[in-house]
Order: sequence, then C-alpha cells, then structure tokens
Amino acid sequence: MNWKDILQTEYAEKLRLEWNVPLAKYTTFHIGGPAECFISARSSKEVQMVLRFCKEHQVDLHILGNGSNLLIDDRGITGIVLYIGRRMQDIQVNGTEIIADAGARMALVSRAAAEASLTGLEFAFGIPGNIGGGVIMNAGAYGGELSQVVTKVEAFDKEGNLHVLEGDELCFGYRKSALKTHGYIVSRVYLQCKPGDKDRIQALMADLGKRRRDKQPLEYPSAGSTFKRPEGYFAGKLIEDSGLKGYTIGGAQVSEKHAGFIINKEGASGKDVRSLIGYVKSTVLDKFGVELEPEYVFWDSNM
Ligand SMILES: Cc1cc2nc3c(=O)[nH]c(=O)nc-3n(C[C@H](O)[C@H](O)[C@H](O)COP(=O)(O)OP(=O)(O)OC[C@H]3O[C@@H](n4cnc5c(N)ncnc54)[C@H](O)[C@@H]3O)c2cc1C
Repeated sequence: MNWKDILQTEYAEKLRLEWNVPLAKYTTFHIGGPAECFISARSSKEVQMVLRFCKEHQVDLHILGNGSNLLIDDRGITGIVLYIGRRMQDIQVNGTEIIADAGARMALVSRAAAEASLTGLEFAFGIPGNIGGGVIMNAGAYGGELSQVVTKVEAFDKEGNLHVLEGDELCFGYRKSALKTHGYIVSRVYLQCKPGDKDRIQALMADLGKRRRDKQPLEYPSAGSTFKRPEGYFAGKLIEDSGLKGYTIGGAQVSEKHAGFIINKEGASGKDVRSLIGYVKSTVLDKFGVELEPEYVFWDSNM
C-alpha cells in the first residue's frame, strides 16, 4: 500500500483528511495550487500523530499557519499540508499570563490581552498571522516583537517528540528563533503581559491599526513586506527610488501605496509574483548596489 492508502484506511476516523485542496484560499495572497493531502489539526495530539506518520512513511510535510507570509507554487504541493489554524486556537488568560494554541490568530491573542486589561501585545493586533507562525519568526511591529512577551513554547521536532523551550533557549533575533533554526512545529505558546489600563491599551491598538490602514495596501491580497529590511536602508524606499511603484507583471504589482509590498492586483499567479520579485531585486541591485532578500517563505512544488 502507498502512504495515501494507509492514511485513508488507518487514519480517516482519527484525523480530518481532505485531498487536493486548493491552498489559495488559505493564504492572504490568494495564491497557491492544491495540497495533495490537507489535514486540519484539532489538537497537539493530532499534530504529533501526523508528524509520526510522515516520519514513518517518509512523506513530505508542510506546516501551514494563517498563510500570511507564504508564496505557494501554482502547481501545488505533494505530500501532506498540516494546517494549524482555525481548529486549534484556544486562548486562556490566567492573571497576567496568556496561554494560546499555535493556531490562535495574533489579533485575537492581542484582543484577549486587552479585554483582560493586559499590556504588551498591542503591537501584534494588526499582524495577520497565527501565534505559532508568529513565534517561529519573532513577528513584530512598531517597536514590539513577540520575544518581549513570550516566555515558553511547546513544540515538536520532526520525529514528533515534544520539547518545552523557555527563556534564552528560544534564541530570538530579528525575524528568527531557535524554533525556526531547528524546524520545530509549535503547538502552544505562553506569554507574560503586564497589568495596564484597558482604555489606553485599546486606544493604542486602534491607533496602530489606523497607521497600518493609512500606509499599507490592506485593500489588496498580499503576504506583507516583500523584502527584509537591508541594513542601513528601507526596502520600500529603495524600490520607490528605483521608479518601480506600480510596476506590474501579470496580475502582480509593486503597490502604488507602499512600494515595500507586492500585491495581488488581479488574479496574480505565483509565477507573476516570483518574476516581479526577480525584476525588483535586479533593478535595485543595479541602481543602488543593495541585494534585497525576500521576507516570504516559498513553498516550491516538487511535482
Ligand atoms: C498585510 C500584512 C501585514 C503584515 N505585517 C507584519 C508585521 O508588521 N510584522 C511581521 O512580523 N509580519 C508581518 N506580516 C507577515 C506575517 O503576518 C507574519 O510573518 C506571521 O508571523 C506569519 O504567520 P502565519 O501564521 O501566517 O504563518 P504562515 O504564513 O502560514 O507560515 C509562515 C512560515 O511559518 C511556518 N509555520 C506556521 N505555523 C507554524 C507552526 N505552528 N509551527 C511551526 N512553523 C509554523 C510555516 O511552515 C512557514 O514556514 C504581515 C503580513 C501581511 C499579509
């Protein structure tokens, strides 16, 4: 029997299996071909079960959060896409501590903190990822980042063994962590906030939300900033100064509102976005001698 038959016969009642699921609807870019097998995890136990299955049967595995930092190949992804999202998003507030399942949206964790008059997570309100996807890359904005509030993370290695990483073991840096380095799969995140004033917390969240809406092209699908911040420069400024605002390939466009974003203007394919990234990179390198490095995670098809 091949792995698909084994999965279907032995796991159909234990896991929520779906086949040939278009991934475009699971990404904020609205781009991506089908997943050969798609499993939406409901618990840490299910995550572990899938990891062990993939290890035992040597099946390719991709972990999907809220799909807000991903560019997925139009041809699709073989193997299993394990979605840690909507079905695994419990959030508990105990005093000043928040314990969130990896699939909880950062905006909802931030809102739960505000509801409990806890400060420290206002910055995360407008970041469209899940806390699991956020913590591996130490997501941040407006001077805040998850490293300032995350105290402990429960995560699996690829063999399905559970690890608990605390404090310095997490090795947070700019958009990186030990979790990312070791390829760990996050199942639960512990955050420590401080008591604050609810009105002030909510006012700050509203202000940061407005600043985003004013500056970022939130009216179009995208995967956020296209490039990492090059040392000593701003990617958006370099792209704008290269005359690339509004530059379009197929359905993908360098946003006219903020050159640091590539948007899905109209029916863009992954190929359009990749071509545009290549063009922007080579133009900026020619003009300013600065090598831009994409911020997105790329899922290439191996079909
Ligand atoms: C409009 C817009 C604005 C944005 N603004 C910001 C910003 O201000 N600051 C910022 O930091 N980012 C920003 N982003 C990018 C994005 O929201 C973050 O990088 C976020 O942390 C990605 O989380 P996700 O759940 O969407 O991960 P995904 O995009 O689903 O996945 C990204 C990577 O994380 C991995 N992953 C996801 N979940 C897990 C898990 N549970 N365990 C292990 N690995 C996992 C995936 O395998 C993949 O490699 C923005 C994006 C958009 C679209």
